[in-house]
Amino acid sequence: MSKIMAINAGSSSLKFQIIVMPEEEVLSIGLVERIGLPGSRLEIEYGDDQEFELVEDIPTHDRAVELLFEHLGSLKVIENFDEIAGVGHRVVAGGEIFKDSALVTDEVIQQVDDLGEFAPLHNYAEATVMRAFKERLPEVPMAAIFDTSFHTTMPAVNYVYSLPYEYYEDFAARKYGAHGTSHRYVANRAAEMLGKPVEELKIITCHLGNGGSITAVEYGKSIDTSMGFTPLAGITMGTRTGDIDASLIPFLMEKLNITNVQEIIDIFNKKSGLLGISGVSSDMRDVESAAEEGNERAQLALDIFYNRVQKYIGQYVALMNGVDAIVFTAGIGENSAITRKIIMDGLTFFGGTIDEVKNDTRKEAIVSTDDSTVAILNVPTNEEVEIAREVIRLSK
Ligand code: ADP
Repeated sequence: MSKIMAINAGSSSLKFQIIVMPEEEVLSIGLVERIGLPGSRLEIEYGDDQEFELVEDIPTHDRAVELLFEHLGSLKVIENFDEIAGVGHRVVAGGEIFKDSALVTDEVIQQVDDLGEFAPLHNYAEATVMRAFKERLPEVPMAAIFDTSFHTTMPAVNYVYSLPYEYYEDFAARKYGAHGTSHRYVANRAAEMLGKPVEELKIITCHLGNGGSITAVEYGKSIDTSMGFTPLAGITMGTRTGDIDASLIPFLMEKLNITNVQEIIDIFNKKSGLLGISGVSSDMRDVESAAEEGNERAQLALDIFYNRVQKYIGQYVALMNGVDAIVFTAGIGENSAITRKIIMDGLTFFGGTIDEVKNDTRKEAIVSTDDSTVAILNVPTNEEVEIAREVIRLSK
C-alpha cells in the first residue's frame, strides 16, 4: 500500500488529496484557501466524515504547506511522513518543453517558474509549492503533471495561429490548451467502458466545469482542443468569454475608458461567460434556476453555452472525419443530464442519440440508446487519481 499526495496549487489556493494506491482510495481531502488574502483557512476531511478547520492568517504558499504538514501529522492522517510514497503536482503550463509528466528536480522547478508568463496565476505558485514539498520530503519521488502535455500531440495545423509565423518561432505564441489530465483520463476510461482500444477510436471529450474545454482525441491522442494560448479561448465558460473577436479589445477599452489592457483581459476572464450574459451567476445551477423562473438573460446564457459546445463538437466531427464516442465530464458535464440532452438532441445527424432513462445519472455510464451509432458517455473525471497514477508510473 502506498500513499500518494496529489497537489493542485493555484494563485491563492492549495488543494490536496491523499490517495492510497493501487486501490485508488481517497484517504483525505482538503484545501488551503485565500492564501495571502483576508479570511484564509485550512480544511482537512479525513477518517469517517471527520472534518478539521483552521482559520488563521496564511500569508504565503510556504506557510500553507507548513500548516498542512503540521495538521496532517497532528490529526494522525499521516503518522509518519515516511508513509508518503510519492507526490504529484498539477502544473498548468508546460509549454513546448514538457511533452510528458516529469520527475521533479531543481531544474524542472526552475523551468516551471520560467514558464510563468504563460500562466501567471498558477505556475509561480506551483513552483513555490514544489520547492516547499522538496524541502520537507527530499527523498520522496515527486512528479509534475502538466495540463498541457496531453495536447502536445496536436499537429502544427491546429496549434499555429494565423499570425506572422515569427511570433510562434520567437515567442512560442501558439495554442497549448488545458485540462489535459482530465481529457486523457476520460478518453481512456471511455475506451475501457466501450471495450475497445483507445488507439482505434475517435473520441470527443467535453470537460464542462467552471472552466470548460472540448478536445478531439483521435486514436488516443489529442489532435485539437478548444482552449488556446491560455484557458480564455473556446466555449463559453462560468466567467470566461471563450472565443471572441480580438478587435473588441481596443473598442471596449475606449468605451469603458480603460487604459490598461490587463483590465479588459480580467473582464474577459472573470466577469464574462455565464456570469456576464446572465447577470445572475457563474454557477450553472444558479443560471438554470433563474432561467426556470423566467429570467430571459439566464435562458440566453444557457442557449449560448449549449450552442458553443455544439459548434465545437461539430468542428471536431469534421476534423476527424467522423466520431465514435462523445464523452461528458466535470461539474456540469457529469451532473446536468439536461445539458447533455439538449446538446446531443441538436446533433443527431451523425448518429448519436441520448437515451433519456440512461442519461438520468451522475455516475459513469453509457447514456446513448442501444442503436446509437455514436456512443455518448458520462465519465466523472478524476484528475487526482490520474495524477497519482502518473506518480507511480514515473517513480518506477
Ligand atoms: P471547476 O472547473 O471549478 O473544477 P467543476 O468541475 O466543479 O468546476 O464544475 C463546476 C460547475 O458545475 C458549476 O457551474 C456548477 O454549477 C456545475 N454543477 C455542479 N452540479 C451541477 C448540477 N447538478 N447541475 C448543473 N450544474 C452543476
